[in-house]
Order: sequence, then structure tokens, then C-alpha cells
Amino acid sequence: MTIAQTSPAYAVPFAELDALTIGTVAVPGDKRYDALVAPWNVAIPVRPAAVLAAHDAQDVVEAVQFAARHGIRVTPQATGHGPMADLTTELLVTTKELDEVVVHPEEGWARAGAGVKWLRVVEAAAPYGLAPLSGSITDVGIVGYTTGGGLGPMARTYGLAIDKVRAIEVVTGDGVLRRVTPTEYPELFFALRGGKGMLGIITAIEFDLVHQPRFYGGSLWFDGDDAATVIERWLHWSDDLPELGTTSIALFQLPDMEGVPPMLAGRLTLSVRYVWTGSAEVGERWFAAMRAAAPVILDDVADKPYTAIDSVHTDPLDPTPAHEAGEVLTDFTAETADALLALTGPGVASPQILVEVRQLGGAFARPGEHPSAFASRDAAYSLLVVGIAEIPGVEDHAEAILTAMQPWVGGHRLPNFTFTPEEYVDAYDEVTLARLRRAVRTYDPDGVMRIGGVLG
Ligand SMILES: Cc1cc2nc3c(=O)[nH]c(=O)nc-3n(C[C@H](O)[C@H](O)[C@H](O)COP(=O)(O)OP(=O)(O)OC[C@H]3O[C@@H](n4cnc5c(N)ncnc54)[C@H](O)[C@@H]3O)c2cc1C
Repeated sequence: MTIAQTSPAYAVPFAELDALTIGTVAVPGDKRYDALVAPWNVAIPVRPAAVLAAHDAQDVVEAVQFAARHGIRVTPQATGHGPMADLTTELLVTTKELDEVVVHPEEGWARAGAGVKWLRVVEAAAPYGLAPLSGSITDVGIVGYTTGGGLGPMARTYGLAIDKVRAIEVVTGDGVLRRVTPTEYPELFFALRGGKGMLGIITAIEFDLVHQPRFYGGSLWFDGDDAATVIERWLHWSDDLPELGTTSIALFQLPDMEGVPPMLAGRLTLSVRYVWTGSAEVGERWFAAMRAAAPVILDDVADKPYTAIDSVHTDPLDPTPAHEAGEVLTDFTAETADALLALTGPGVASPQILVEVRQLGGAFARPGEHPSAFASRDAAYSLLVVGIAEIPGVEDHAEAILTAMQPWVGGHRLPNFTFTPEEYVDAYDEVTLARLRRAVRTYDPDGVMRIGGVLG
């Protein structure tokens, strides 16, 4: 036994949990603790009283029941791409060891354990010409991403990741392992798709794949001095873009470091991201107008296999101390662009590394076959601001951007781009909130799930 009989922080006998589970239990001071709790976003302190690295679904059952018995709360973590500030918890259950991946090529669907990142499914599906609705980087966890809606680089063609879910296996806050489908526990099927880790800890998920062996796309880079001209062109061009195209723009201030192409490092640049899911010839024709918008400093838009999907958004892979802020916008006009560039454009000492605007609409806007707790279908654009948390002023500057965007802010936040407990409630409309609260009362009556408590 390596665990003290009681954790000094909460006087909870975590040794009892260790005896009940196959996975590793560690408390602060244990040499395995730091590695087990470490999130991708290293700016968020994740310091629970104990961590369980669950070995299987039964370990998760034991953990949730243990938490209920001892009156403590639980939070799941897969990769730590989305830990929420102030939601440090008594017991963290990490799911990395729940790592099964099965692709059913004939029927076009896949099953993944809760610890699996998108890359594994992308690689397993690619030989069959199939692809999942993964996000901007395949290093993100499938379950966390999908339960927050899942807005990916093909969203205007295929919709959200939640729209492809077939089944979810979850240990709800009452400590019961359930298989949830549109017909078995339909209220949970609604709530888990959009409600993130509010109701329980998911152990596995099953979802449809799309036939997409290749795509035409990538990122096209301009000098920051041309940002206003390029954004103006992008606005007109993307207005007419068919649903086969999904696009976003991003102002980058990339550091001069290994892995960053020299022509992009240490300066303000603007990237136009593009994915065309139809034929490469037509996708290239559509994109010609953007190539002609201003002098191009790097052109990485081409016909590619789906396994190259991370080249579209060029997100960072290594753990990052990120400060993030986001909103959805009802519109993005020339005036919106001016307001944004006044704080982030050329000649402004913006401390942000990335300021991104994704165009939504298309299949994203249409409700999926089964209702879900995702409440932002009517958003026209999403805005995401990312800076390095240690840089002085980064938080206030992000706040200033959101304030400047107020005339266009609307609807409900995307659950995946919601970064504090206070913001979380804003991700849902009144009816969805009422349904989520009822589901929490039914399936987590003792309030064991840490995040469910933020609903009040
Ligand atoms: C670089 C980067 C790129 C991103 N790109 C996109 C994007 O393109 N589109 C998009 O929609 N989002 C995107 N996101 C947001 C991301 O989808 C969310 O942060 C998501 O929650 C990450 O899930 P995770 O498991 O990797 O992270 P974690 O921090 O491990 O989990 C975050 C939250 O997900 C929930 N969760 C995780 N595991 C479980 C489980 N087993 N059961 C129940 N709930 C669980 C919990 O609420 C948990 O607190 C991005 C984030 C980053 C940092």
C-alpha cells in the first residue's frame, strides 16, 4: 500500500479506493501523482486530493460510488485540453487507460474508449477511406470534444460530432454504468451530447464515420499588414461558399521557435483556413479568389489525405500554458473586423498568440437527427482568443476584445469554448438548462459530478 490511509486534504480514506480498483490511485506527495494529473493546458492548476487512473469501466463505477459514500466530488480528465479554472476537485478520474479503438469499415462507424484522442481513430479509419468528425487538432480527446458539441474543420459539410453519436457508455453520478442510445435512456442521450461531464463519466463512445479519404485544404498565410484587405475579401467570398467548404481566419503572432516556419515567426500574420470536402478541382477553383487577395507568404492549401487534417488549423501539439476566451457572434461585418483589428491588428501590441474567427452555418446550423443539449446552432461565427497565460496583460486584453465584440455577441457559448464555471451556464438556453438540471437530479442525485454543480 503506497497510499496514506487518509488524505490530509480531505480526511478521505483513498486507500479504500485503491483496494477496490485495478488502476493507480495517487495522492499529493506520491511520485506518480504529478504525471497522472498533468493537463495539456499547464496554466490551469489541476491538484485534486487524489487521482485514479481508471483501468476499466468497473474502476470508474467504484470511483463514483466511493465519492458518493464519502461526500466528495469527481471530475473526469482525458488529455487536459479543457480543464476548467476553479473546478479543481476532490477526486480526479483520468481515462487514458480506457484506450480501445475499433473501426467497423463495412458499416462505417467506430467505437473508442474515453481515453482515446482523435488521431488514433483518424489513422485506424483512413485505410478504408473513412474519417471521424474530429476537431482542429487530432490530439484532443474524443469524449471531451464530442460531449461539448464538436466543431470541426468539416462542420459546414457534415455538422457537429454530436450529430454522429450512436451510443455512449457512462457511469452516471448515481454510480450506475449505463449504455445510452437514442432509445435507451433518451434523456441521457440528449443531455450527454452538449452537457460534457455534467452527468457522469463516459467510458466509451460509438459514432458514425464519413466517407472522406481526402480533402482539398490547409492554410494560406498573409502578412499581418494585409489583414484588413484579406478579411474584407474573406467576408464576401465566404458568404457565397457552398457547404462543401468550411473556413476560418486567424491572426497569429507565432514565436520564433523550432517548428515554426521562419516566414511566420516573430511577426503578425493572417491565416485563411479552408477545407473543401468535394473534388479537389472544384475546391481549388473556389479558393482562387482568396489566393489573389494579397501577396501570399506561405501557401499550404492542397489536395491531401484526411490524415493531414491538422495542417488546416496548425494548432500546437505540446502542452501549453494557454489563456483562452471565446464567444459566438451573430454576424461578422466590416465593422466587426475593424473593431477586432483595432485591438489585434498591425501596429497594435496584442499579447494574444491566436485570434480566430470560424464561419459557421451550413450543416452546423441544422439540428441533428436526435435532439441534444447543444444550444448554439443559430450562431453565425465563433470567436476564440488564445494567449500565453504568463504574459502580463493577456487576460485583460482578451476581456477587452470580448467587450469590443459585444454588439455582435449573441446566442449561447459553445460548451467547448467555455472556460470558467460562470460562463458554463451561458452555453444553454432556458429549456435546455431545465432539462439538464432535471437530468442531474435524476442521474446524479447526490451531486457527485463536480461540473453538474455549476448549474445551481
Ligand atoms: C488546441 C485545442 C484545440 C481545440 N479545437 C477544438 C475544435 O476544433 N472544436 C471544438 O469543438 N473544440 C476544440 N477544442 C476544445 C476541446 O474540444 C475541449 O477542451 C474538450 O473538452 C477537450 O476534451 P479533452 O478530453 O481533450 O480534455 P480534458 O481536459 O481531459 O476534458 C475536458 C472536459 O471534457 C469532459 N470530459 C472529458 N472526459 C470525459 C469523460 N470521460 N466523461 C465525461 N466528460 C468528459 C469533462 O467535462 C472535462 O472537464 C480545442 C481545445 C484545444 C486546447
